[in-house]
Amino acid sequence: MKHEATKHDTSMRKPRLFTPGPTPVPEHVMLQMAQPIIHHRHPEFIAIMERINQNLQTLFCTVQPVLSLTSSGTGAAEAAMTSLFSPGDKGINVNNGKFAERWGEMMKTFGMESVEIAVEWGKAVSEDQLASTLKQHPDAKCVWLVHSETSTGTYTDIKRMAQVIRANSNALVCIDGITSVGAHECRMDEWGLDVLITGSQKGLMIPPGLAFVALSQRAWDKAATAKLPKFYFDLKKAKAAWEEHSTPWTPAVTLFVGLAPALQMIIDEGVENVWKRHETLSKGLRAGVQALNLSLFSESPSHAVTAINQPAMGKQFLTMLKKDYGITVTSGQDSIKDVIFRVSHLGYYDEGDMLTVLGAIEHALKRVEHSFKPGSGVAAAQRIFIENSGQS
Ligand SMILES: *Cc1c(COP(=O)(O)O)cnc(C)c1O
Repeated sequence: MKHEATKHDTSMRKPRLFTPGPTPVPEHVMLQMAQPIIHHRHPEFIAIMERINQNLQTLFCTVQPVLSLTSSGTGAAEAAMTSLFSPGDKGINVNNGKFAERWGEMMKTFGMESVEIAVEWGKAVSEDQLASTLKQHPDAKCVWLVHSETSTGTYTDIKRMAQVIRANSNALVCIDGITSVGAHECRMDEWGLDVLITGSQKGLMIPPGLAFVALSQRAWDKAATAKLPKFYFDLKKAKAAWEEHSTPWTPAVTLFVGLAPALQMIIDEGVENVWKRHETLSKGLRAGVQALNLSLFSESPSHAVTAINQPAMGKQFLTMLKKDYGITVTSGQDSIKDVIFRVSHLGYYDEGDMLTVLGAIEHALKRVEHSFKPGSGVAAAQRIFIENSGQS
């Protein structure tokens, strides 16, 4: 089969990606990655890494090194886990979705004991649930939480949860920020997060292949005694190389060359403005779909991705979006595969993108005989955008 993007489409329809990773890559970033490859031990690359390292600290709101790994986001979690813990260590896994579940499985795979707090999908853990589990397990060495659970579009107030953890235990606060970094306010140092990870194909607007992780001082102290086996993902090696603006192994050079200008876009826009933009886009989209008589799946919606309950004839609807409107969204995963569809607004998106996806959703909904007032979705989103522009 020919690659989708190389197919000549006589309809002039533009392919539009609304998935929460991979996310769209800005044109000038793609062009940068098309330049002749450079060598990773030469000054040219080291200068690129120096700027990246600095900008990543700004993005993570930390003075700690933010280590870049050549792997997908999961590699950063594995690196943190094996670099910090020992066999038999107990960890608490707040499981409210497909990604959250992964960190419990990973602990078990490495011979740790995983205590699960099972939270209904679409909900965030409550302070009481977390505090009582911590009291029952005072020997827990870590708590894994997902800031923005991509499988259900659910946001967890990790600032508050980090306070609860610190008030009740010495457990390290380990945060999957894979779809929150660059979308939600996330202040590593100020909020007392001990582990914060993200991945390149999400808010960082470049293709898959890089992962990022930062550890607090408390976590680095713990790393000194960690006994889980690691080699490629040894964060102590990564930190030593970081001091020289380098990496222990051959990095994905091309992706770093793309990361530099992508990250610079975030810094130039201003990290707080980037958070604000995601908030506004997600509010507009949510208002739009609700005006179309669709309902939201999550009780606590993320600013990165919106999970929407599927209309009747959901399968035909999603096929139409892709085939007739060039819009790629994703369905749910596992038990909610045919229950929801997810529209992403993580990374390189603007208001026009939200109006476009809402327009296509309206058109397709009309064809599956869903009842709504035509134009109401786009109008509701536009109202939010105008209100938030300060020009109403
Ligand atoms: C995408 C994602 C991951 C997994 O990252 P990979 O890059 O696929 O390894 C983990 N957690 C969340 C919340 C994600 O969105």
